[in-house]
Amino acid sequence: MNTFLESDKPKDHCGIFGIANHPQAADLTRLGLYALQHRGQESAGIFLLRNGKCELHKGMGLVADVFRKLPKEWWKTPQSMAIGHVRYSTAGSSSLVNAQPFAVEFDKWYLALAHNGTLTNGGALRNQLKQNGAILQGNTDTEVVLHVAARNHRMGAKPWDALKTALKSVAGAYSIVASCEAGMVAARDPHGFRPLVMGSLDQAVVFASETTALDMIGAKYERDVKPGEFIIVDNNGNIESEMFTFAGRKAHCIFELVYFARPDGLVFEESVYEVRKALGRKLAEESPVDADVVMPVPDGGVYAALGFAEASGLPFDLGIMRNHYIGRTFIQPNHEARVSALRIKLNPISEAIKGKRVCLIEDSIVRGNTSRERVRTLRDCGAKEVHMRVSCPPHISPCYYGIDFPNKEELIANNYEIDEIAKLIQVDSLSYLSLSGMLSCVKNSTASDYCHACYSGEYAVKPSLGCEREHVDDVDE
Ligand code: SF4
Repeated sequence: MNTFLESDKPKDHCGIFGIANHPQAADLTRLGLYALQHRGQESAGIFLLRNGKCELHKGMGLVADVFRKLPKEWWKTPQSMAIGHVRYSTAGSSSLVNAQPFAVEFDKWYLALAHNGTLTNGGALRNQLKQNGAILQGNTDTEVVLHVAARNHRMGAKPWDALKTALKSVAGAYSIVASCEAGMVAARDPHGFRPLVMGSLDQAVVFASETTALDMIGAKYERDVKPGEFIIVDNNGNIESEMFTFAGRKAHCIFELVYFARPDGLVFEESVYEVRKALGRKLAEESPVDADVVMPVPDGGVYAALGFAEASGLPFDLGIMRNHYIGRTFIQPNHEARVSALRIKLNPISEAIKGKRVCLIEDSIVRGNTSRERVRTLRDCGAKEVHMRVSCPPHISPCYYGIDFPNKEELIANNYEIDEIAKLIQVDSLSYLSLSGMLSCVKNSTASDYCHACYSGEYAVKPSLGCEREHVDDVDE
């Protein structure tokens, strides 16, 4: 039987969730994390406040696995707030010690933090902390932020000021939710690399990486947390907002819209579904193809393929079947896990392929190894021609802001021209969407509000010494 191998994709990062002022905060956080599971499958955790006391439960695995054995009372006995996290390790290795939320004693407070993103100066700060005698448990940026905050803390004060000062001294990408006995905080780095939205559910205030988590619990989307904003929710549900830092420009991650975020939600105030279809339409306009059928590589290529088919007038067909019961195993964090998961099946449907000139829509090509395998499988099924269209530009540079690309030398588009890549992956033709074409597909902000460094090499925040090393350590595929 022909099978497709799935491994050649950038890896997800993390998902965060927080809800303040709700008696079932923990259970709603668990549901919110289910909706964010695509952002990380290595570990999950929930920190909650109950009767003025803090409880933390985290473990390795999927949300369903990590919380399965907790007694019903843990969920039912009323709480006042909770934060949660699902993790893929962009910085820091995969182990329980790096699972989040991180919780520490802070003077008279117990402070917990959940973080999405990667700090460009995380390695340098870590070294400084160690030289000054800090004892670090794991190797995540999140722990670094907490240590820097602890050094800024004034005895007796609420930890928020110390956290704010710490965030001013870190660089790179962070969307965070934090919680202590005094309330909850949500904040975003000044460029707004990673998403973070705010919602409401009756009297409760909710924060989440994506609106799909709000939908999951029936909460209403209110707005995005702004880049550089620090929002405090106190124990009575009062909200206080402050712009604590300013970068001069935004740099939202365009790849969230191209690939990472769920298509059924809003990210950076854009409908992910609409943007992906627009990418497909633009791709058809820029790179038309004489083919019999438009076919996506599921799941990432589906909406771009719908847009491509719509604009080109070619029929759309699902000729590749994905086994949804196996899960997104390619986001396994280390080599061994990925190799063992490599046999995940994307099965071709021969009847849909045989004798056809297929236009295959991909959302990205990273190393190119699995693209070649897919093309070969289509040909084995009797495809007359295989043309590949990619709904974003070639990836030529790594990401330092929380997406786990391979290092530059491994990126196929960094080493070869497009016609050479076409020969390597054995397609009849290959085209990528242009950078300007991709950026023209966002509607609610301007192209200059987006980061596209992995396509252009233009970094909004320069990585500092140690930043690249952390990435390379974690991508040993
Ligand atoms: S470098 Fe690419 S993946 Fe990283 S934040 Fe920028 S657009 Fe997103």
